[in-house]
Amino acid sequence: MNKKELLRGIPKIDDVLRQEPLVFVSEEKGQVAVTKAARSVIDEIRNEILALKAEETDKFDTGVFDLLALAEKTAARLEEDESNNLYPVINATGTILHTNLGRAPLCRDAVENVKAVACGYSNLEYNVSEGKRGSRHDIVNNLIAELTGAEDAMVVNNNAAATMIVLAALGAGKEIIVSRSELVEIGGAFRIPDIMEQSGAYLQEVGCSNKTKVSDYENAIMTREQAEEYDPDLDRRGMLRFETGALMKVHKSNYDIVGFTEEASLEDLVKLGKKHDLPVIFDMGNGLMLDMSEYGLNEPNVPASLATGIDVILFSGDKLLGGPQAGIICGKKKYIKAMKKHPLARAMRVDKMTFAALEATLKKYSDSKIAIRDIPILNMIASSESDMKAKAEVLARMIEAADSKLKTEIVPVEDQIGGGSAPMVRLPGFAVSVTDEKKSAQAIERMLRKNKIPVIARIHDDRLLLCVRTLLDEELVTVADAFNK
Ligand SMILES: *Cc1c(COP(=O)(O)O)cnc(C)c1O
Repeated sequence: MNKKELLRGIPKIDDVLRQEPLVFVSEEKGQVAVTKAARSVIDEIRNEILALKAEETDKFDTGVFDLLALAEKTAARLEEDESNNLYPVINATGTILHTNLGRAPLCRDAVENVKAVACGYSNLEYNVSEGKRGSRHDIVNNLIAELTGAEDAMVVNNNAAATMIVLAALGAGKEIIVSRSELVEIGGAFRIPDIMEQSGAYLQEVGCSNKTKVSDYENAIMTREQAEEYDPDLDRRGMLRFETGALMKVHKSNYDIVGFTEEASLEDLVKLGKKHDLPVIFDMGNGLMLDMSEYGLNEPNVPASLATGIDVILFSGDKLLGGPQAGIICGKKKYIKAMKKHPLARAMRVDKMTFAALEATLKKYSDSKIAIRDIPILNMIASSESDMKAKAEVLARMIEAADSKLKTEIVPVEDQIGGGSAPMVRLPGFAVSVTDEKKSAQAIERMLRKNKIPVIARIHDDRLLLCVRTLLDEELVTVADAFNK
């Protein structure tokens, strides 16, 4: 057959659409989607024919013109198109709060609660017992207060938003004093000096990169009278000064300063704040709620930070708290009240799904043992070496069973917290190293990434590593299956 004859042989779309497998599919997914898929299947065949060289046309398999085969191919294509742009992946990198992979996975009860609340209506802003309007702010306030010792709390979209609204509510038109060693960039263009500018507050930097003393903060404080009387002509740069609005400490989340260093503690700042009647703000970042030092994590935690007497603390919901993306602000009632009334509050408020996930996650913290058992990221941090070794051995056996040509080995690795938290912490863990005589580590990595549920692995020293700390037990089968090609 020549090319023209082949082209003429391509079935008509309508004939494909009339095939039985597509009749049901049309009812479910709609005629438009099915027609589009059938057209793409047929167009592909047409392009294939057009690309043939003259001497190849005789070898072309006209079996692909079979109507039933085309209909089945169309149905399969529709199935493929069903996949979303956002989908689950398996994290075998050993980095617990992997920013690129969605930070904290939620605990099961959080997911169940989201499902329960999202499917229908909820009492998001309705006081059921009194039969009148309620406030979404009341959903987790008492719970947060109970767990942390804060007087009041507020939840916004993320900690960047929390920083913004705290500064805008307490510092607009005023100076906020921050140490030069804490002017952090979190990533994604979140920089303390830039946020400060956006909020309307004026950054007053004090101290040096390595050393900032309490006296540096104290020397920078301006009362309203001092600011009003301040003569810019006396300032080398001719700058105005403004009344001090607050003292602020920012946690060095994603870096460390070592060597000849000094910083003011929260206690020092609280004392200074009291003396000058100024609020003390702590951008704590990671939201750790428990003392996890026995697991190698020496980070400040929320209740201990609040116990120093600071006025406002803010942190993320999806870092070491292990909940949904959110920014949680808590502390003294009068300051939280000012934020709730601020016009930005509406722009930054969170939806019912976030509240549902957050409440279920927070409830776990009423008992630290339950929190560590049920909140995935805490469980991963607390994983014992023997448990991880056993998990690695199970996975290695499953992988060898999936493809007997593969060689596996259990190797020690250093896992990380990630998510811009605790950058110096290395948690001793285990990985399954997989080698294939015929394939490079890169080729195996690519194959795993192309799996239906992508498995994201690490390559170290030219070896493919599957770090088991971040693998959930129920994911092991899928990981092993990814090798069965
Ligand atoms: C992570 C972090 C932020 C930003 O929090 P998001 O929830 O990512 O918006 C702000 N400040 C500090 C100190 C942080 O560690």
